[in-house]
Amino acid sequence: MSSTILTGGPVRTMTGDGHTPEAVLIHDGVVRAVGTLTETRRSAYETPEIVDLDGRTLMPGFVDAHAHTILHGSAIDWVDLSGARGIGDVVRLLAERAAARPGEAVRGYGYDQSKLVEGRHPSAADLDRVTRDRVVQIQHASGHGYVVNTLALRQANITAATPTPLGGRIDRDADGEPTGVLFDSACDLLTGAEGVKVRNHGPNFHLPMTHAEIDHLFDLGQRSLLAAGITTMCDAQVTQLEMDAYLRARDEGRLRMRTEMLALSSNLEHLTGLGMSSRLGDDQLRLWGVKLYADGSVIARTAYLNGHACCGKPSPDGYLYHEPEELAALITTAHRLGLSTATHAQGPLPIGVVLDAVADARAERPRTGLVHRIEHCGFPTGEQIGRMAGLNVVPVPQPMQVSLYGDSLMDEFGEFGGRFYPYGEFERAGVPVVISSDAPVTMPNPLEAVWAAVTRETLGGAVSGDAAQQAGRANALRGVTVTPARMLGRQDIGVIRPGARADLVFLDADPVTVPVERLPKVGVTESWIGGEEVVLG
Ligand SMILES: [Zn+2]
Repeated sequence: MSSTILTGGPVRTMTGDGHTPEAVLIHDGVVRAVGTLTETRRSAYETPEIVDLDGRTLMPGFVDAHAHTILHGSAIDWVDLSGARGIGDVVRLLAERAAARPGEAVRGYGYDQSKLVEGRHPSAADLDRVTRDRVVQIQHASGHGYVVNTLALRQANITAATPTPLGGRIDRDADGEPTGVLFDSACDLLTGAEGVKVRNHGPNFHLPMTHAEIDHLFDLGQRSLLAAGITTMCDAQVTQLEMDAYLRARDEGRLRMRTEMLALSSNLEHLTGLGMSSRLGDDQLRLWGVKLYADGSVIARTAYLNGHACCGKPSPDGYLYHEPEELAALITTAHRLGLSTATHAQGPLPIGVVLDAVADARAERPRTGLVHRIEHCGFPTGEQIGRMAGLNVVPVPQPMQVSLYGDSLMDEFGEFGGRFYPYGEFERAGVPVVISSDAPVTMPNPLEAVWAAVTRETLGGAVSGDAAQQAGRANALRGVTVTPARMLGRQDIGVIRPGARADLVFLDADPVTVPVERLPKVGVTESWIGGEEVVLG
């Protein structure tokens, strides 16, 4: 393999040593030298090819610590309902798709009931206006639930007699008939007889699909992540369907991103039976840990925020996926297997359950090298943030949600709502600042997410909480590169230094010096993985 020297623009190594070297030498997919052009030339084994950055900024490839490749592909392929401002919009957009793709199920993604003038979820009766002859299924912006039409309810055999499962929600009318709204563990009912069932271990994202459909969605999702400069991602919910899709992509040469997988906790018994005692996989695809769910979604108002409300608004009726003892037992089991845990927890009570469980697991066996995570971690108390620092528990929030949903959270929850994802407190407590997308819940654009963490500006032009919750810019830039890489246990990505993988992004402006309001517009012109440019077909 030939040697390459990249030079001609700012090089942001993210190593924290304050140096901005003139040139980077890569060989065999690995960074071999960093320094002046002369130094790197001297280090080359052979006459290197010189790549001119032409003023562009070179950074390590971005690391997205929490995203969903196939679900993100669905969001791209299905009807985009994120702009819908009323149920009429939802019906019209779906009807257009139904006309454009005759004979196919009509699927949409991204409606948000809080943005609809009706202030409620659409119903089966609403979706019947799209069509009664074909299945219509729309997924909530949180990914935690669906609304389906009457035909889809009938095909899934969901009736007044169907019990509401633990950790789930089936909305019903006065006669007990399902209205078409199914959330969290109730989504198992929609995957069909052959589909994956996750019981009360999480929201089931799946609808009945063929391998060809799944591969198409996978490719769409991966392409979008790569185009955003994300060269390493952690898939935050892997069931049989995702595992099979990743392995197929790898075997067929379609997998490009480095991927760390979180197996959903519904598979823990199988992992135990397999004799897992550490992580499994390689440089490109690895089973890193276990994903668990403690409570529901903040955006869907199914998170366990019970007792929190303000301004005369009712407190939402959130729920837990497991009894606290059951969740603690799952976390302990994963810890014993040598796997990290990543538990979705939003409200103070479920966050406390996770921290107690990690404390107990570490008391039994410290395994200090094993990181445990809290996904999202919307509303930790100050005391809980202090415990995170001591327990090596890392929160993994998505700051773009502060921008997208901060207004409605402050409106409904007052001061409590403004404290959503308290990055400033994380920083001051010495808790790592990690920035992720949860794609498709927010679109993958790491530097836009950095902007959101640094400014906490909402769509409505307010600042969520106060300036004390803003993240520092340098720390936020580390939050999309080196910090999540370290959290994932990888010393060889997220930085540009000798020995690191040559996973790189070329940017059309320098995110360290560009005015902060321009961060969302900084463009990725090339992504490289292992020293080779990723060509998006
Ligand atoms: Zn997620």
